[in-house]
Amino acid sequence: MIKFSSIKKKYIILFIITLLFIVSISFFIIEYNETNVGNIYKIKENNDKNINKIESSQLDLKPVSYNAVIPIYMYHWVREDTGGYEYPEMMVKTSEIKKQFEYLSKNSYQPIFITDIKDIYKYNKPIALTFDDGWIDVYTNVFPYVKEYNIKISMYIIKNLVGTSGYCNEEQLKEMRDSGLVDIQSHTVTHRELESLSDEEIYNELKISKDYLKDVFNINSTVICYPSGSFNDKVIDIAKKVGYNYGLAMDGGIHYTSKMSDMQIARIFATRSMSLNTFVSYAEKSNVNVKWE
Ligand SMILES: [Zn+2]
Repeated sequence: MIKFSSIKKKYIILFIITLLFIVSISFFIIEYNETNVGNIYKIKENNDKNINKIESSQLDLKPVSYNAVIPIYMYHWVREDTGGYEYPEMMVKTSEIKKQFEYLSKNSYQPIFITDIKDIYKYNKPIALTFDDGWIDVYTNVFPYVKEYNIKISMYIIKNLVGTSGYCNEEQLKEMRDSGLVDIQSHTVTHRELESLSDEEIYNELKISKDYLKDVFNINSTVICYPSGSFNDKVIDIAKKVGYNYGLAMDGGIHYTSKMSDMQIARIFATRSMSLNTFVSYAEKSNVNVKWE
């Protein structure tokens, strides 16, 4: 009996040791497999990252050809009360521009600066909002909505009128520039009609205003907004030599990059009587055609 009992004990101990061994081996195998599965996921994740890298580098490539239809709206004053001004049509209501910004924002339009035209193939619903002359209205009545709706606008300032009665001063212009949402460009020195000037006068109007933007605002102005929409081949030629890449007309409606040159950019006159429906009907024409190969 004693002998049997000691043998039985030995077997029990051996059985426990074997069981412990099997259990620890099983844990090791499970752990090993999980690590491998984890590695597989890691490999997959890295591959996805590489794919993303390839896709983003492809975006840096330029397409073979592209053209765009860009509604570019032209504003001057923006205020509720026309104050008996002789051209009230040039004064868009503040409440109306709020509605326009709201519409653009809700419908995912992409407000661009004129200088963004060089990369227009990167957009699919571009529009542009341009404000001529540098009126104080832009700072007091438009800039709050620019910030609220995160909408880019462009301003064209007349060097000799900056800081005079009714116009933005340098501090206000700098504040708007610093928001990153307002592009400030040249509308010449004195706002005279360029077609009526001598070559030298045209040169001075374009060059002195460009230098002013550089010296005071650190802006490299490449857009010239022709005063009263006055330009001809000679004006364009001088403008290009001074370093402008884009010229803004005052008419022409919707801008088609396939039909009009960058030095004769067409614009839509945003008037006081323009209804939201009319504003929308122009915006809806926005389109970019891109050919990659
Ligand atoms: Zn003007």
